[in-house]
Amino acid sequence: MQVTAAVARVPGSELEIVELDLDEPRSDELLVRLVATGICHTDLMARDSPAPMELPAVLGHEGSGIVEQVGSAVRGLAVGDKVVLTWDSCGACRHCLAGSPAYCAESTLLNRSGRRADFSTSLSESGRPVCGHFFQQSSFATHALAHPRNAIKLPDDTSLERLRLLGPLGCGVQTGAGAILTAFDARPGSSVAVWGAGSVGLSAVMAAASRGCDPIVAMDIKAERLTSARTFGATHTLDADADDIVDQVVAISGGVDYAVETTGIARVVSAATRSLGIGGHLGLHSRARLGPGGMDIAQMPPGRTVSFLIEGQCVPQLLIPELLGLHQRGSLPFDQMMTMYAFEDINQAIADMSSGKTIKPILVF
Ligand SMILES: [Zn+2]
Ligand SMILES: [Zn+2]
Repeated sequence: MQVTAAVARVPGSELEIVELDLDEPRSDELLVRLVATGICHTDLMARDSPAPMELPAVLGHEGSGIVEQVGSAVRGLAVGDKVVLTWDSCGACRHCLAGSPAYCAESTLLNRSGRRADFSTSLSESGRPVCGHFFQQSSFATHALAHPRNAIKLPDDTSLERLRLLGPLGCGVQTGAGAILTAFDARPGSSVAVWGAGSVGLSAVMAAASRGCDPIVAMDIKAERLTSARTFGATHTLDADADDIVDQVVAISGGVDYAVETTGIARVVSAATRSLGIGGHLGLHSRARLGPGGMDIAQMPPGRTVSFLIEGQCVPQLLIPELLGLHQRGSLPFDQMMTMYAFEDINQAIADMSSGKTIKPILVF
């Protein structure tokens, strides 16, 4: 079939909306008609440094939509089901079997290679292959092929309007909220520091508030993001550029129990590490910066833990329904950080996200 897709052709350049050919779903795949998709910084990182994927490619990994076709071997999903698409995992490696699919041994192949596990791709342009299958979805297109493991079925009564908001449960919201709810399993009354109040950090703030954590300290260099953080439940907000930021966080918290770091900036990682209390746990969300100005393992006091968290360390089939319930009860108002764009305006949406004008852009088909 023909699909309309936004293709990345050159690192750092705008995406181009074109018609592509998409193969029929295989027996273990489903065809999903996208109604909306979020944009995540990982899409831009993959556009700019595509390896192990190759350009041209179709990115996008926060899709939500309606199942249009199911392969003969697919169980548990049917035509007409509303789904949130998320990252894929093999289901067979020891990490998947032990309940940690976020650390699946096949994760790079399944989510970053732009191909199926057998290296094939279902997308083509005038007969030339185009990488797709990004997070086994490539949701910057009107239609996507997905697997039962990365398509989370939603209640039948989910309205179209609500379905459009739910794509980021598959990555950005899941990452921030999952850090608090799954990776840390934060206790009520525990202290939380969130370094960087973008969509991942704000999702962590909302989840911490839903758990009754106190204090919740959010940091950013943008005043309007700190205002958002207070709206979403931060008890304290601080300018991340302050020279005495570590002292301020420790004065408020007595040393932080749980910290979420989303910036990847060396001095922020260092400050996040130094403000941990005894028994504190810091979750990094971009590659740990070691060396000058960054985290110094030799200076780490005892009893602290630093982890590199992926996707909130969650099982999406368990966490996404929990997040839906919290949202329905008003405890996780992630829709308030979203800005809607027409799919055709994808480059404007990317520019606005990059400049910080919008926190979480949603493209509507
Ligand atoms: Zn696996
Ligand atoms: Zn993402």
